[in-house]
Amino acid sequence: MNQMTARINIAIDGPAGAGKSTVARMVARDLGYIYVDTGAMYRAVTLKALEAGLSTEDDAAVGKLARELDIALLPGKDGQQVIVNGTDVSQQIRTLDINRNVSYIARLESVRKQMAELQRRMALAKGVVMDGRDIGTHVLPDAELKVFLTATPRERAIRRFKELGDEPGITLDQLEREIAERDRLDQEREIAPLLQAPDARLIDSTGRTIDEVAEQIVQWGLAIARTISTEEK
Ligand code: C5P
Repeated sequence: MNQMTARINIAIDGPAGAGKSTVARMVARDLGYIYVDTGAMYRAVTLKALEAGLSTEDDAAVGKLARELDIALLPGKDGQQVIVNGTDVSQQIRTLDINRNVSYIARLESVRKQMAELQRRMALAKGVVMDGRDIGTHVLPDAELKVFLTATPRERAIRRFKELGDEPGITLDQLEREIAERDRLDQEREIAPLLQAPDARLIDSTGRTIDEVAEQIVQWGLAIARTISTEEK
């Protein structure tokens, strides 16, 4: 991207399995931006809370644990590497057990507050593509481009099912039910629920390729960045 073009922040929100992380990573690569997977941060807190034997309802205890964690997101060969207190937990945070517990941890007020603060700091210098559930509505309400990415529940379940490999340990129907339950928890929670921001652009990725979706977002991003650069001159 032209060095003289303004850098913007891009927020990509949507339900589980809509393709957000793959798309966000491609957009960041094409624009030379930094990709931030906020779901991975909630997953990391969940992993450590479960390891410590904490209740997923215990806001004070999980909040204290989250404060003491050093969570780093690094660009890796196959996606983002998640390092917690110096250990790579990228694989461990993608298990069915974490899937089943993460939305309970993500409901806790103290955890959300800390994660949002960390995420805002990561986006201060601009040039960030951040994906999650509340980025356009809460974390970065001033993001220059907001996208709400969705797909039908069946399509989302099929995508996640494929990611689980040869021994998924769950049927497609069960997975679809679990995804629907996670969406329900994310949409109905009190703090920063999953919601399309009024100024977000909606993309339904059902039947569209990841490349098409990423290209669309890159084009929107470039157009916005050019407009800002022109206005600044
Ligand atoms: O995106 P991913 O499926 O990895 O997110 C895992 C969970 O983390 C979500 O289901 C949601 O409960 C939580 N989350 C959140 N806010 C975000 C990102 C993720 O509550 N910004």
